[in-house]
Amino acid sequence: MNEISEGENTIILYFRKSKQVCIWTVKLALTCCLPLALQQKMLKVEHIGIAVQSLAESLPLFEKLLNTSCYKIEEVESEQVRTAFFATGVNKIELLESTSPEGVIARYLSKRGEGIHHIAFEVQDIESEMKRLAGEGFELLQEKPKRGADNKLVCFLHPKGTKNVLVELCQEVEVNK
Ligand code: ZN
Repeated sequence: MNEISEGENTIILYFRKSKQVCIWTVKLALTCCLPLALQQKMLKVEHIGIAVQSLAESLPLFEKLLNTSCYKIEEVESEQVRTAFFATGVNKIELLESTSPEGVIARYLSKRGEGIHHIAFEVQDIESEMKRLAGEGFELLQEKPKRGADNKLVCFLHPKGTKNVLVELCQEVEVNK
């Protein structure tokens, strides 16, 4: 009874081989598909936005704090805001000063004072990420990505749906585009 016939041996060998093939197929699928799936997600915290009353007053403070110089000051007219950027490792800090008493930052400051205003996540494909998040029930503040500071396409999520955290999605755009 312990003897295995040649036929049975062939069947056992066949199953062993097909098991191996299955493992290879799963490994191959994971190697190929996982990076594609990851592309759809938030890549990293790109920057943290901080609302300030005055850039002139806050710039020296943050230069001292971060021990680095501000690398860019840029006005975004559509948002009535002037921004200043600091590089901190792989992330950035964005200071935001209002250029008008009616601007979004001025209104934020009058309600909540200075402090962290938003967290920006870098995404690979902002439109597909907006579609994904809208499908998950998040409220987008823009229908289409708009041009933001520091060569970015941006879109914000309504903070009511994100535990009162204003979330910005941003995608790097090539300069002169
Ligand atoms: Zn930002």
